[in-house]
Amino acid sequence: MALGLLKPLNIIVVGAGVFGVTSARELRRRGHAVTVLDPGPVPHPLAASTDISKVVRMEYGDDEQYMEMVEQAIPGFVAWNRDLGRPLYHEGGVTMFTRQPMAPGDFEYESFQMLLARGHEPTRVQGTEIQRRFPAWSEAYVDGFHHARGGYVESGRLIAALAQKAGAAGVRFVEGKAAGVREGRVTLTDSRVLTGDLVVVAAGTWTPLLVPELRPMMRSTGHPVFHLEARDPDLFSAPRFCTFMADVTGTGWYGFPYNPKERVIKVANHGVGLSLHPDRDAREVYPDDHAQLRAFLAMAFPALADARVVYTRRCVYCDTLDEHFWIDYHPAKPGILVATGGSGHGMKFAPILGPLIADAVEGVDNPWLERFKWRDLRPGTAGQEAARHRS
Ligand SMILES: Cc1cc2nc3c(=O)[nH]c(=O)nc-3n(C[C@H](O)[C@H](O)[C@H](O)COP(=O)(O)OP(=O)(O)OC[C@H]3O[C@@H](n4cnc5c(N)ncnc54)[C@H](O)[C@@H]3O)c2cc1C
Repeated sequence: MALGLLKPLNIIVVGAGVFGVTSARELRRRGHAVTVLDPGPVPHPLAASTDISKVVRMEYGDDEQYMEMVEQAIPGFVAWNRDLGRPLYHEGGVTMFTRQPMAPGDFEYESFQMLLARGHEPTRVQGTEIQRRFPAWSEAYVDGFHHARGGYVESGRLIAALAQKAGAAGVRFVEGKAAGVREGRVTLTDSRVLTGDLVVVAAGTWTPLLVPELRPMMRSTGHPVFHLEARDPDLFSAPRFCTFMADVTGTGWYGFPYNPKERVIKVANHGVGLSLHPDRDAREVYPDDHAQLRAFLAMAFPALADARVVYTRRCVYCDTLDEHFWIDYHPAKPGILVATGGSGHGMKFAPILGPLIADAVEGVDNPWLERFKWRDLRPGTAGQEAARHRS
């Protein structure tokens, strides 16, 4: 139900995470007047988009659409490296290793097959070849593959750089917090009011607080992130180590190579997470999380078994029940479009998110949007993101 687009619109984007900043930039590029509202700073310390690194992977099991979307996103990251004048996307490749031989139906097996089917060249690595090529991995891992495409993006720095570019292109940034959104109108917590033709609500995990109709279909889940001190950075650096997923559907564990800027190794868990209120609840990492991390490190990377944890964070997903993004007009309020639902896997699509959301705004036919449309998700709806650990 796109607004009749005979003229450029005056658009208010609530939220300056990756959904908000990329859509603001693209809408501005298409000639609309755009204001972004965020309490700031951008990137906001509590935003999901804020971190030293996020995984960029094509691997989505047998889900061809997400793989196709990342195939189109990666050249965008490469172009941004050039345009932003510094490499924020690091194409060091990915490894997906398992403790059992890969088998049909597994995330790793289906990802491997889909990569081959789409003309990519992953390399299967088995048995002692894993330890020979990637010596940090323990012998508990017996099968899997390395794929040279993909790696990680410095997400927080990317958001800062894109916001700067957006500002230079004429996007207006207003510091403040939305208390309520109505069609074409945003009321701030300090009683200021912003008006326009359209409000794009891209407030991440806070979105259901502003659009209550979404509450039954989205939840806020907090996930632990750890930064580890590395005694032997070379062992965890290319070409002997890269962005990884370790039996991810079975354990949730994934991580990154040694980060020379931050001098740490980041390890995190893509699992069920803890349900929490985005504003009211503490975002703590508990002793039990540390115990699970220690057990994983001892099993997977003996050289990190007793590495010092120098930083932790519980970062919050905007989890839709089916784990697909939510990009569509409100069915009952035409002046509101929702762009959210990253469900722990949205950052890697950054270069194509802006055009995707702008297409939704303008009613441009984009086949990828079908799965992100407003939908009626009932309790018990199964999550569908292929790499997610659910137990
Ligand atoms: C622990 C963790 C690990 C992840 N790892 C990966 C990964 O490896 N690869 C990957 O692809 N994706 C990953 N993701 C997912 C990815 O980070 C998210 O999908 C994405 O960042 C979501 O962006 P967003 O713009 O929707 O939300 P956010 O980045 O959270 O931004 C929302 C913004 O809205 C603002 N806001 C909130 N309420 C208001 C209000 N009332 N008024 C105004 N502004 C408001 C906030 O200040 C914030 O800046 C991960 C996420 C987490 C939490």
